[in-house]
Amino acid sequence: MKLVLATHNLGKVAELRAILEPHGFDLVGFDGPEPIEDGVSFVENALIKARAAFAFTGLPAVADDSGIAVEILGGSPGIFTAIWAGTRDNVANRRLLLTQLKDIAAEHRQATFVCTIALVTQDTEICFTGTWPGRVAFEERGTNGYGYDPLFIPEGFEVTAAELEPEVKNSISHRGQAVSSLLDYLKSL
Ligand code: IMP
Repeated sequence: MKLVLATHNLGKVAELRAILEPHGFDLVGFDGPEPIEDGVSFVENALIKARAAFAFTGLPAVADDSGIAVEILGGSPGIFTAIWAGTRDNVANRRLLLTQLKDIAAEHRQATFVCTIALVTQDTEICFTGTWPGRVAFEERGTNGYGYDPLFIPEGFEVTAAELEPEVKNSISHRGQAVSSLLDYLKSL
């Protein structure tokens, strides 16, 4: 089965292709126009992107939307995670979050990474969501991963996600869980 991944990020295509290909799924990137992500949840935004890719290509389309929800911030940054400091600047985003939480004690720094993957085909629309609980660190640590990883200490660990080996992170992360559910679903078709 051929699938299109609604992203211009070649790294994401390569990563998901490596997981799906051994199971007979051929994943290609998407060159079409990017829709306006005006949804108010990870599910809505993932569906907007997958629907746009399906409409443009006619192929079964996959899209993901992800972010971090910090409890003391009422679930923010949430869907605004990528632009929390105003632009798509991960360094500025992390700095702002650290500043916002600078006086908050360790026991009140709970946060959850969320990833929703939407699959849109001729016959169906379905979403798979993975969540990864943890807390926001007091300073950045680690060089693996990307985005907010240097600030996120997963539940059950004393190191940040950026200090975990990529294989360890992928086997337990929000995205790892969502991809695994997507794969189970695709295999059941
Ligand atoms: P996007 O959905 O890939 O655009 O990501 C949304 C935002 O969430 C970006 O700012 C990412 O840096 C952040 N994010 C999502 N997943 C992760 C993760 O696994 N580690 C660190 N940051 C993440």
